[in-house]
Amino acid sequence: MEKKAFVTKEKVEEIVKEFPTPFHIYDEKGIRENAKALKEAFAWNKGYKEYFAVKATPNPFLLKILKEYGCGCDCSSYTELMLSDAVGIRGNDIMFSSNDTPAQDFELAAKLGATINLDDITHIDFLEKILGKLPERLSLRYNPGGVFKMSNGIMDNPGDAKYGLTTEQIFEAYGILKNKGVKEFGIHAFLASNTVTNEYYPMLAKQLFELAVEIKDKLGVKLSFINLSGGVGIAYRPDQEPNDIRVIGAGVKKVYEEVLVPAGLGDVAIYTEMGRFMMGPYGMLVTKAIHEKHTHKEYIGVDACAVNLMRPAMYGAYHHITVLGKENEKCDHKYDVTGSLCENNDKFAIDRMLPEIEMGDYIAIHDTGAHGFSMGYNYNGKLRSAELLLHEDGSVQLIRRAETPADYFATFDCFDEYKGICARK
Ligand SMILES: *Cc1c(COP(=O)(O)O)cnc(C)c1O
Repeated sequence: MEKKAFVTKEKVEEIVKEFPTPFHIYDEKGIRENAKALKEAFAWNKGYKEYFAVKATPNPFLLKILKEYGCGCDCSSYTELMLSDAVGIRGNDIMFSSNDTPAQDFELAAKLGATINLDDITHIDFLEKILGKLPERLSLRYNPGGVFKMSNGIMDNPGDAKYGLTTEQIFEAYGILKNKGVKEFGIHAFLASNTVTNEYYPMLAKQLFELAVEIKDKLGVKLSFINLSGGVGIAYRPDQEPNDIRVIGAGVKKVYEEVLVPAGLGDVAIYTEMGRFMMGPYGMLVTKAIHEKHTHKEYIGVDACAVNLMRPAMYGAYHHITVLGKENEKCDHKYDVTGSLCENNDKFAIDRMLPEIEMGDYIAIHDTGAHGFSMGYNYNGKLRSAELLLHEDGSVQLIRRAETPADYFATFDCFDEYKGICARK
């Protein structure tokens, strides 16, 4: 599918008068249309809920938009819980799916009434000790091990993943929870990441539904929700076919009717915890070409770097690039598009065919709406960029300002007085 930027060169020229590059910009219209389509795709399930994975895009303005479509928050840390609380998402509207969890995080999750999803069998005792008593509603994260295979090959490797309880442990754990007076049970599994196929959720659902039936038969424990978690991917590359959420929803419905309904489990709620699918395509990193370099290769240096978008450096991930204003020009130049970090993997693209880039050109790096800004860091003393929201009426709102040097130095207690050589006494 052709990948088109949701802002034009003219629009960016207008935006930069107020907010200089680099910045992440989000497309409100796209976010809303997608959230609505998701809601419709799972409307057949009475208890359905999407818990947006806050870690993907932890911005309260965006969480509030999703809240309008009934979304809750999937949190994994103390500050993510605070963020969810701040936008009024509390109680059962929070799924706390964390691992290696500090005690204070569990405490806050419990205080907010979140549904806690335990990552390990030992966390049952850990949680009970902290809270004095287990919550009445608890979820367990399942990891069957091995590899997750689909018709088109191996999708991922759960056997290598640190998360979740084994099959044996999961049966033991529900038994323990039942004995300890837990009343409402859920199961969660995240077995493959960024799947660009409509078959992932239905396949995962089938596996979990069959397990739910077995849990009911063997232990008399009736699950009240099944959480398919994240992993629904997006088409980062132009040659990929994007997932169709309607097809995915219908696929899950089919196995629900085949497996759960006949087993007397027709009232189980389906939950999802998508991050990437909810937000990824609706964000872009906009940056400016500031240097060209002709050495052993042709380089274009931009004013963003890997601290603004880590995925290419970290995973070698592909992010499509549009040179704004040159959408219809021939891609007859081969470039490495780089940032300024003292790290050779700080490249947004390697050997990418693009139109001829001139200094001052604005470059849109696509699909940064999830796991983009949020993975940012401060290496080389680089500062995090602003986040902007493009409203449906074309106006632009600053939803997070860019960091300044004062932010960078804020954790030295008295930097202003001593120019950074003071440590707290
Ligand atoms: C990261 C994560 C998600 C979201 O994953 P996406 O691939 O962005 O959909 C959901 N649940 C948990 C527990 C996660 O760690």
